[in-house]
Amino acid sequence: MNETTKTCQLCGSSPLRRMEVPGANVLHFCSRCDLYQFGALVPNEAYESAYHAGYDRHRARKVRTARARLARIAALIDDRRGAIRMLEIGCSVGATLQAAEERGWEAHGVDVSRSAVAACTSRGLQATVVGACELPFDDGRFDVVCAWHVIEHVEEVRRTLREWTRVLRPGGLLVIETPDAECPKARRLGARYRKFWAPEHTYTFSRRSLEAFFREAGLEIEREPGIGALAPLTWTDRGYAAAQQLYHRLRRTLGLEKAFQLFARRPMSEAIASRRAA
Ligand SMILES: [Zn+2]
Repeated sequence: MNETTKTCQLCGSSPLRRMEVPGANVLHFCSRCDLYQFGALVPNEAYESAYHAGYDRHRARKVRTARARLARIAALIDDRRGAIRMLEIGCSVGATLQAAEERGWEAHGVDVSRSAVAACTSRGLQATVVGACELPFDDGRFDVVCAWHVIEHVEEVRRTLREWTRVLRPGGLLVIETPDAECPKARRLGARYRKFWAPEHTYTFSRRSLEAFFREAGLEIEREPGIGALAPLTWTDRGYAAAQQLYHRLRRTLGLEKAFQLFARRPMSEAIASRRAA
C-alpha cells in the first residue's frame, strides 16, 4: 500500500494508504479508524437486471433469511402502537418486503434498480426507484429502516445516514449489515482477497468505524438481540433461524465471518428536546 493525498472522512487524518485490488477497486485506508473509503462510485445502471438475478434465483432462501432477520428486529421494537412501518433501502427483488408483509408490517422498499423495483411491484409489494439519499418520505415516518449490504455502496456515508435517520421516528430502529473490514481473511490476504473487495463498494467499515458514523448521526447503538429473540415464527422458520444464528456465531468464532450487523436507535429524548424548544 502506498500513501495518498486523501483525508479520512471520519477522523480527518492524512495521508491515507492506497490499496489497489487489480481489476476491481482502489480504496484508501485509515489505520486509525479502520476505514476503507473513496472506492469508485458505479452508475446506477450497474444495478440493473443481471445484478439481482442471483437474488431472484435463491428467493425462497432469501425470504427465510429475511424472516429470521425481522424476528430479531421485532424483538427490539414495540408493536403495541399498531402495525410496524418498515422501510428497506436497497430492497432488491423484495424478499425482506415479503417477509415483513407476512408479519403484518407495512413495508416499503427503495432501490436504484428499475428492474428490481419492477420485480417487487409485480408481486404486489410497495417499492420505489430512488437513490438512498433522496427518500420521498416525511420525517419520522418509519419505525424500522433496514439496509442489508447497501451502506458500502453509497456516495457519502454522513449524508446517507442523515437521510436514513430523518425518516425514522424517535425511538425507531436502524439496522444494517455490511462487509467487515476486520474479517480475518481480508486482513490476512488484503488486496489478494479479490472477491471481498467488490468493484461497486465505495466503503468497507469495521464495526468500530461504522459505530462512530452512527453516533455522529445522533443514533444510539443497541445490543444485538440474542438467539432467544426469535418469536413469533413458525417452527420451521424458527429452526432455520436458530441454525442460521449458530452458523454465523460459529463462523465468527473461527474467523470466517465476512459481515457484521449493527442495530441502532434514534433516541426518544431528541423529540422531548425539540418539543421543549418549540
Ligand atoms: Zn480516520
